[in-house]
Amino acid sequence: MSGRRRDAAPGRPEPKTCASCGRRIEWRRKWADDWDEVRYCSRACRGSRPGPVDRRLEEAIVELLSARSGSATICPSEAARAVDLDGWRALMERSRSAARRLVAEERIVITKRGRVVDPSTAKGPIRLARGPSFGRSPGPTGGRAGRGWSPARA
Ligand SMILES: [Zn+2]
Repeated sequence: MSGRRRDAAPGRPEPKTCASCGRRIEWRRKWADDWDEVRYCSRACRGSRPGPVDRRLEEAIVELLSARSGSATICPSEAARAVDLDGWRALMERSRSAARRLVAEERIVITKRGRVVDPSTAKGPIRLARGPSFGRSPGPTGGRAGRGWSPARA
């Protein structure tokens, strides 16, 4: 059997992805009753839900990678600059969050020194590259259908 991903401990639901920072949310006992409703890893993330700028950052990442060769990588700062040339520094962490959300959809991967790394724990300078589902539209996992999000336009 291949593709077994449900081998977590019995009774322990699979991790989810935070809808804000894109980091992994591991099941905790305190969420036993409302795990299905959990979408954010922390109160801070709940208070900073992704908005139009964050969608633009996701779009910029996809557009930048689309414009380059299939194996090329970009820096999250390039997406931040594409969205706000003057205020890009303030968008750096949000650009990294946008990248992590795209990783959760397998549309990109995050690399360090040429190797794919875990987006939840990667620290320091990272690069972004196309993932296995790069050309695909956002899946239903994000639960944001109808928001007008679309992948890079040709
Ligand atoms: Zn979070």
